[in-house]
Amino acid sequence: MFSEVKSTPAVALPRRFQYRVRDLMIQEQSGETDNRVPKMVVFTDLDGSLLDPLTYSFDAASEALSLIRTSGIPLILASSKTRAEIEPIRFRLNHLHPFIVENGGGLYIPKGLFDFPVEETTLRGPYQVIEIGMPYTRLRAALKEIEQRIGSPLRGFGDMSAEEVAERTGLSQPDALLAKQREYDEPFVIEGPSRVTEEIQREIDARGLRCTRGGRFYHLMGRNDKGRACKLLIDCYRRQYRSQGDGLVLVAIGDSLNDLPMLAAVDRPVLVQKPDGSFDPEVQLPNLIRAQGIGPAGWNRAVLDILRTS
Ligand SMILES: [Mg+2]
Repeated sequence: MFSEVKSTPAVALPRRFQYRVRDLMIQEQSGETDNRVPKMVVFTDLDGSLLDPLTYSFDAASEALSLIRTSGIPLILASSKTRAEIEPIRFRLNHLHPFIVENGGGLYIPKGLFDFPVEETTLRGPYQVIEIGMPYTRLRAALKEIEQRIGSPLRGFGDMSAEEVAERTGLSQPDALLAKQREYDEPFVIEGPSRVTEEIQREIDARGLRCTRGGRFYHLMGRNDKGRACKLLIDCYRRQYRSQGDGLVLVAIGDSLNDLPMLAAVDRPVLVQKPDGSFDPEVQLPNLIRAQGIGPAGWNRAVLDILRTS
């Protein structure tokens, strides 16, 4: 099952889209945009932040998005989604910058983006990938080992058909297929008695792995988070724009606890409102900017404010 999932090609993008990174750099450096060297890098979560929590639209953020683009500011997408799920969103956004998949499990950098070789990358299609998380095959093997040890069924995405994933998540079946193309995180359910959770946690700890609980699933993963991936990329941008020194302004926007390591890695962390107008109470930082507006509306307001005052 797993090798089937891995060998399924990610969403095929038009060739012109895959190979336009250099064009973008040249366009940005040729004066078609306001700045030759960006003074800012913006990191953003997708669901509930740049994307509306209910409609998945980013229309409410279009003014700030277009200003970011014309200012030549790199916009980095950082999501818990898989690469296969993020690529159609990049296409809709006409996004050509790096992106972070599966909660910091992998950092995808378009080939040739930086003018120096990025260390410890693997070539994958049009990208150089820094693998921070534990590869999916090893997570699957660990899940099945733990299942044997505790004698209670642990059912992961790798055990489920696309129909079952669609049913359990509420995703459409094509979207469930994209969600199943996992590389660094295995969502699973415990089908036995709930008392085994402590035992499972012990087995996970013993293997140096981590487990988090989302809305519907537990997630088995390595020791990755969005913050580690952001820091690696920040180092690359500082190196690329070394003449700027420490003048680079780092912004990150999120809505939930899994965004906290990313928000903590920047100097302008922004939290947007949940659909009910509240802010995630678990996200606390001394310099946190609480944007007035739900998801992309708050995103738009906060980014415009930061751009106007930076
Ligand atoms: Mg979110």
